Amino acid sequence: ETNEITLEFDSKSKNESFARMVVAAFVSSLDPTIEEIADIKTAVSEAVTNCIIHGYENEEGKITLKCKLDKNKLFIEIMDKGKGIENIKQAMEPLYTSKPELERSGMGFAFMEAFMDKLEVLSTPGAGTTILMEK
Ligand code: ATP
Ligand code: MG
Repeated sequence: ETNEITLEFDSKSKNESFARMVVAAFVSSLDPTIEEIADIKTAVSEAVTNCIIHGYENEEGKITLKCKLDKNKLFIEIMDKGKGIENIKQAMEPLYTSKPELERSGMGFAFMEAFMDKLEVLSTPGAGTTILMEK
């Protein structure tokens, strides 16, 4: 049996914690460990923060979060319709950031990759970015 939810919210930093809690609540039926929940919440936080500060550059926009459970596997999709990424390979390199002046460390994608089993980044410059993660 599968189960899926979709949530759309404004690109505001206060909605980051909301997105994290929604995902944690969604996976609770799987009896995850504390560590698994922490990993998933961190990955979701990083992806949502990226939509807010990079995708929309703190302008208003909508972020879509989809969570799906299929045979004890969790699929998460986080999408923005912001500026997109020109060079995905470079963006995913640990320590790469396009905003060093904002004291970003360039570790968001590295964390998503480390804390989840699978990470895929789809992006079209000028159209937006979709992050797919599995655990
Ligand atoms: P940190 O996450 O450590 O605060 P960061 O956000 O710069 O720093 P990553 O999360 O690894 O580091 O992202 C790397 C780069 O990829 C960003 O600097 C940005 O240029 C680009 N990027 C990531 N997500 C998006 C997005 N949703 N839209 C546009 N660009 C993005
Ligand atoms: Mg980041």
